[in-house]
Amino acid sequence: MAVAPGVGAPEILEPSEMTVPSPFSPVLLADRVAVVTGGATGIGLAVACALTEAGASVVIASRSAERLAAAEVEIARRTGRPAWSLPCDVREEDEVARLRDFVRARCGSAAIVVNNAAANFRLPAERMTSRAMRAVLETDLLGTYHVTRAFFDDLKAIGHGSVLSIGIAAAEQGFPGFSHAGAAKTAISSLTASWASEWGPYGIRANCIAPGPIPTKGVWENMLGHPSSSEADAGTQAFANLVPAVPLRRLGTPEDVAAAAVFLSSDLAGWITGVTLRMDGGLNLTQCL
Ligand code: NAP
Repeated sequence: MAVAPGVGAPEILEPSEMTVPSPFSPVLLADRVAVVTGGATGIGLAVACALTEAGASVVIASRSAERLAAAEVEIARRTGRPAWSLPCDVREEDEVARLRDFVRARCGSAAIVVNNAAANFRLPAERMTSRAMRAVLETDLLGTYHVTRAFFDDLKAIGHGSVLSIGIAAAEQGFPGFSHAGAAKTAISSLTASWASEWGPYGIRANCIAPGPIPTKGVWENMLGHPSSSEADAGTQAFANLVPAVPLRRLGTPEDVAAAAVFLSSDLAGWITGVTLRMDGGLNLTQCL
């Protein structure tokens, strides 16, 4: 998707609109089993498609069985290969353990874990409640911990495991209106670095991708809270208004993240660990001006 500087509104993107062919060999991840949380929609679905195209056996997991079933069909349609899914709430450790057992039984031990599931909603800091804070921290931060911890033994046994978590580009500067998500995502970068140090000797790499604005349907509904048409117009405009500040003059796409996710999850990135890769078209370079 390319939006001309300052002109028009960004489209809401789902991966079915992907047009760029995969740059990766279809056997790059041929012997790898991957699990992608939040893999039925938006960025997670694009990552699941890209990992599948690169040869991995992919299991997607999130709460909605209906969205997972539709995503399985979509992945098969796009890649010509099957994917598997299991409903799982990453806040619940027993559900995550069931996911790990399902992955083992269906595909084998996971070598690639992608922590993409996240919750978010706008709430000014002065109106933040501990309930709201907990809701986001439990999904984003504890969910990332639960999933990674549950798959640790498999990653260690396999000897070349990869943990990839999705952060946000803005986290270090704070995330006004979304302070809970900013805190959770910053903590995920720190967890990533800790895991990289502690688990490197087991051959496990841990990295984080921190994307800038990508107008997915999920970000729209969750962050703008199922907006009225006037709020949606304002939100669309807010996204469009960002474009002139992006040096590369466009917003991100799920496929931008998916390409980096395949690279970081593969042996091509075999000496990269502990990294938080910011992907925002350079927006951070101009936002401080
Ligand atoms: P999205 O489509 O809403 O993705 C979020 C996914 O998380 C959904 O599939 C959702 O599925 C799942 N999820 C939420 N709560 C869950 C839970 N408790 N257990 C399991 N799964 C859960 O939005 P997106 O834009 O693609 O975002 C994907 C990731 O990119 C997120 O980590 C987000 O923070 C990050 N990100 C997005 C942007 C952006 O501008 N879009 C920018 C920076 C970072 P269910 O509701 O079915 O559970």
